[in-house]
Amino acid sequence: MSTASTPSNSAAITTTLAVQIQQPGGPEQMALVSLPVGEPGPGQVRIAHHAIGLNYIDVYQRTGLYPLPLPLTLGMEGAGVVEAVGEGVTHLAVGDRVAYAANPPGSYSQRRVMPAMNVCRLPDGISFETGAAMMLKGLTAQYLLKRCRPTEGLEAGDFVLFHAAAGGVGLIVCQWAKALGLRLIATAGSDEKCRLAIENGAEFAINYRTENFTARVKDITAGQGVKVVYDGVGKDTWDGSLDCLRPFGLMVSFGNASGPVPAFAPGMLGPKGSLYVTRQTLFSHITSRERTQAMADELFAVVQSGAVNIRIDQRFALADVQAAHRSLEARQTTGCTVLLP
Ligand code: NDP
Repeated sequence: MSTASTPSNSAAITTTLAVQIQQPGGPEQMALVSLPVGEPGPGQVRIAHHAIGLNYIDVYQRTGLYPLPLPLTLGMEGAGVVEAVGEGVTHLAVGDRVAYAANPPGSYSQRRVMPAMNVCRLPDGISFETGAAMMLKGLTAQYLLKRCRPTEGLEAGDFVLFHAAAGGVGLIVCQWAKALGLRLIATAGSDEKCRLAIENGAEFAINYRTENFTARVKDITAGQGVKVVYDGVGKDTWDGSLDCLRPFGLMVSFGNASGPVPAFAPGMLGPKGSLYVTRQTLFSHITSRERTQAMADELFAVVQSGAVNIRIDQRFALADVQAAHRSLEARQTTGCTVLLP
């Protein structure tokens, strides 16, 4: 066997710093550890991260709400440079600038080996930080607005309601919805966050800590209700959200920032206007390379056109990941947050 078959760019790389949990729990469970990192196998690449995206799903995985095998390196989103390419990977080459939202977790690291399927080349005009901030949240905004359609259609001029609109997914959706001509009613947890949602394209904003959002939505829509509610808050907003929908409206549940939605009887959807309910996850939408790239191309285009600006309001060193999680869970963040390895 000749040593010449070992790629020269990767021969010296054997370990990486990464954020791991040994058991589910609070932010204190996350520790920076040194882990081995090897060569990519078939269908895989090795990426050196330049920036890492923070997402609420990282909290669910850390707490065990979404149980995963342990020990677990967290993180579903990142951007960096391809260092090595495994057999059969044709869409990426060593040296490519890339970004991704992908399973399995592992982006809270300096470098990692991972499946190449969801890894996309980053256009030249988009920075690593923007790439790391926008892939999971932006692809989510894409499928929420483009693929979660009420049976009665969704057109410019229609009202929709989006909860926690000043957050990472929220500020992207506010801008994209405006570009599509939708009349977005935002909710958020402070007057300052409401202002931010309006500045980013929401037509109305309701502070749901001080106002009854259901009554306000009825008021704004002259008693009609909205065609779609996008609800990533979960437990606290579920009941009120159903009462914001017009007949045949669509309830899109996609998160549980306040806790999981409790069990409910489908029979209650009839008297409220024969409503539709769906529980969505990005990972049902990016199951093929082609689908992922098509969604990413749409996201890149809307960002490059200037219609959607990816706001990064918080930056933390990867070593300060506990503080980043505390801030996210305490509702202190707005827009996107990145971790820097
Ligand atoms: P955000 O930046 O939006 O942060 C979460 C926000 O939720 C907070 O800032 C806060 O905003 C609001 N919130 C309401 N109640 C609570 C509470 N009790 N505790 C903490 N936060 C609360 O996070 P992301 O942009 O990362 O994600 C938004 C939601 O979308 C999450 O539920 C996430 O899991 C979900 N998601 C789902 C995906 C999917 O495909 N299913 C993909 C991506 C995200 P405020 O103070 O304004 O109320």
